[in-house]
Amino acid sequence: MAEAERPSGSAPETGTGRKIWLDGRLVPWEQATVHVLSHSLQRGSLIFDYMSVHETPRGPAVFRLREHLERLLVSAELTGLPLTQELPELEAAVLDTVAANPGATSLKISAYIPSVEVDVVPQDDAVAVAIAAYDPIEDVIKRNRGRYHWRPELSVWIEKERRNRRPDIVPAQAKTAANYASPMVAKWAARKAGYDEILLADAEGYVAEGPTTNVFWVDADAALHTPPEDRVLHGITRRSVMELAKHDGIPVSEDRVLPDALMAAAEVFLTGTTGGVIPVIALDGEPVGEGVPGPLTRRLAERFREVTSGHDADFAHWLAPVEGR
Ligand code: PMP
Repeated sequence: MAEAERPSGSAPETGTGRKIWLDGRLVPWEQATVHVLSHSLQRGSLIFDYMSVHETPRGPAVFRLREHLERLLVSAELTGLPLTQELPELEAAVLDTVAANPGATSLKISAYIPSVEVDVVPQDDAVAVAIAAYDPIEDVIKRNRGRYHWRPELSVWIEKERRNRRPDIVPAQAKTAANYASPMVAKWAARKAGYDEILLADAEGYVAEGPTTNVFWVDADAALHTPPEDRVLHGITRRSVMELAKHDGIPVSEDRVLPDALMAAAEVFLTGTTGGVIPVIALDGEPVGEGVPGPLTRRLAERFREVTSGHDADFAHWLAPVEGR
């Protein structure tokens, strides 16, 4: 659609050539839409998981597919979304979607309520499932006129204000769209103040995680620490980094940390599907350590890249290849 013809407020949805798996059918990218009054758009009742796709010596493969889908089922359970598909069915659908979208580097699976609803609790609670395999830069960022904030080393603001979210009702472990509203507000403000990223505090003021990342820090004895599981989303990268560290003989433990103590760490890094292991070089405008990525951060970032690209036989089972599925 030409610029002038586009209805105000609508996204420039011309075709990418990509296919999206929608309830068992592969449909063109631009046809995977929902109604503006759909329950999931209005009430945030969408759950999702986000994975990475890698070119490996065995062809394209999804990193820790089973673990990501298990987490999706946990998100469904924690939010009460009546998802009917089981793991093997979802696993096959994901691999079919990757096969149908050559060159994809990322994969998002969403489960949501497309029905137009009045009440907070939907009358029609049929859940739709959509799976998109794509390249975020080529298919999304460039199409959104190329404005993309990306830096390999981050300056991070620690958001000390605790948002009044009830973790006993919607736990941090649920990857539900509604859980991203507070981080979005805080990160937007931090961006305007010149920071790349934020870290959020938990209800007691301890550092918990970023909006889409987990956090690690390195102490003076070169031991690795990360906040405990009950405070954060169970990041697949977090878990993988902990397993890799243990495998390589690096001490790692789960500990709470207050913002001031984090600022005194030798090294700090974030982990997540999009960026892997990402160095934090400044916190609240003060340099972390020497103000450059530290040795353990660099080592783990490299190690993680090796594993995700299929170049470490010990961890080949973390990759689900598309070919021969
Ligand atoms: N925390 C939150 C709140 C997230 O949304 C994400 C991204 N899924 C992470 C941490 C990192 O998780 P993963 O390593 O599985 O991408």
